[in-house]
Amino acid sequence: MLRLTELTLPLHHADEALPAAICKRLRITPRELIRYVVARRANDARDKTRIQLVYSVDVNVKNEAAVLARFRKDRNVQPTPDTSYKFVTQAPPAGTKRPVVIGAGPCGLFAGLILAQMGFRPIILDRGKVVRERTKDTWGLWRRSVLNPESNVQFGEGGAGTFSDGKLYSRIKDPRHLDRKVLTEFVKAGAPPEILTEAHPHIGTFRLVTMVESLRETIEGLGGEYRFQTRVDGLDIETDANGERHIRGLHLHTGDYLEADRVVMAIGHSARDTFAMLQAAGVHVEAKPFSIGVRIEHPQSWIDRSRFGADAGHPILGAAEYHISHHCRNGRTVYSFCMCPGGTVVAATSEVGRVATNGMSQYSRNERNANSGFVVAIDPARDYPGDPLAGIAFQRHWESLAFVAGGSNYRAPAQRVGDFLAGRPSDSLGSVLPSYRPGVTPTDLSQCLPAFAVEAMREAIPVFGRQIAGYDHPDVVMTGVETRTSSPVRFTRGEDFQSLNTHGLFPAGEGAGYAGGILSASVDGIKVAEAVALSIAA
Ligand code: FAD
Repeated sequence: MLRLTELTLPLHHADEALPAAICKRLRITPRELIRYVVARRANDARDKTRIQLVYSVDVNVKNEAAVLARFRKDRNVQPTPDTSYKFVTQAPPAGTKRPVVIGAGPCGLFAGLILAQMGFRPIILDRGKVVRERTKDTWGLWRRSVLNPESNVQFGEGGAGTFSDGKLYSRIKDPRHLDRKVLTEFVKAGAPPEILTEAHPHIGTFRLVTMVESLRETIEGLGGEYRFQTRVDGLDIETDANGERHIRGLHLHTGDYLEADRVVMAIGHSARDTFAMLQAAGVHVEAKPFSIGVRIEHPQSWIDRSRFGADAGHPILGAAEYHISHHCRNGRTVYSFCMCPGGTVVAATSEVGRVATNGMSQYSRNERNANSGFVVAIDPARDYPGDPLAGIAFQRHWESLAFVAGGSNYRAPAQRVGDFLAGRPSDSLGSVLPSYRPGVTPTDLSQCLPAFAVEAMREAIPVFGRQIAGYDHPDVVMTGVETRTSSPVRFTRGEDFQSLNTHGLFPAGEGAGYAGGILSASVDGIKVAEAVALSIAA
């Protein structure tokens, strides 16, 4: 089979135009085309008056060798790559300790799945609840302003991405196609099959919940074991005669002790108490850059029109997305983050007395507003120097101010863009209604953001308004604060994927500073599971 890439057709093409284009491009007759399947489809809307679909297709042709030889210098006609996943080893018949995975987010789930598929029967611990119970607690904050600090949008089965847009793309380039393994397992677990072909796939919240349950059944069916409402509160570390540190077990908040010499630590970016515990236990940790800002909401129809012109609403295009950035005069970079087309802004705190925002959507992406993080990049040397955990203190400071500015009841502070630009507090909202639950308080967002961020955001809004019509409309609403764009720390690991100074501890995923998003966290889970398996096999 050969793969033909960069095959471009107009958005409104007829079905038969695709095989015709394949034949034309490969210079073959229709009789020589045996079969084709779309491997990927993207849209190119840079010119919105002439939107194009860009296909990659896997093609069976008569006399394939001759066709490939004819195009041997054409990088868009190549043998179809083998994207199937190959296990690096299998568990020995008996006698090894079971590896332990802390965290049932995408990273922990994929670490657990791969270990289970290799026969290692992992134990997966999560501080939060099983996903259906967790859903009730998460809605408890959104509907009734009641936060459960152990079961919420950040903690529990499925991890942080469970109540999300479920965007499944990342910028990682992986010659082993591990992202394909993730997407294939997601489809087996109930994701729509088109995630295998769409360039920008997404799943949405409802399906994620059932997929997480299905993954659990698979892992348990392979001998894995889950323990929910089980928080790891301490590490048992032994130092050998050479001064090397080795993990021997875990102290659980229940008072129990779990023996373990291979531990995957996939705790996400919000386990601040666990970060402190790890630092106190002497595990190597460094501060890492992240970003701070707000969620910004526009009517989705404005984004669609601005991006797709007369083709706005076309079913193939779906709800439009955007990615924008601007380098400001004060040296800061402002950018859009985790855009959720046709979605809602959600309360994403896991700590009492704090407010943090994020976004989610359903598969249909048909809510009234588009929302996106509108954030400013920050870094440790400049903004939170000193202790490796200083970034957490920084986050907490602004999240606490946002809590107070919102009314100290989990409503979030919000402001119209027109007022933000004019430097005056909002006392009411305009035509764009915020979607944040449990509600917002119109106020002055500059009270709960650093001055340099406010300055940069004021510069960027009109710039973005020139790229997306309506972005800077005075009624556009901003809700704050967005502080958890990625982990503020990195638990640095060596080439063997183990902590730089603690053997047997495998920092993984977003919390460890090695992923940003569902797909990259899942891929990191696979890599770490392989490293665990190889270390046991060795
Ligand atoms: P997490 O998913 O954070 O999982 C960590 C798990 O560890 C949690 O379940 C937690 O309960 C558990 N844990 C923590 N400490 C302990 C402890 N001491 N003991 C036991 N268990 C512990 N990304 C995308 O790619 N696309 C999106 O559309 C998207 N939308 C998002 C929307 C929202 C509202 C949020 C909050 C995030 C979104 N993200 C999205 C980001 C994505 O969810 C994360 O990048 C991803 O979940 C990180 O995976 P992880 O497994 O590394 O960590």
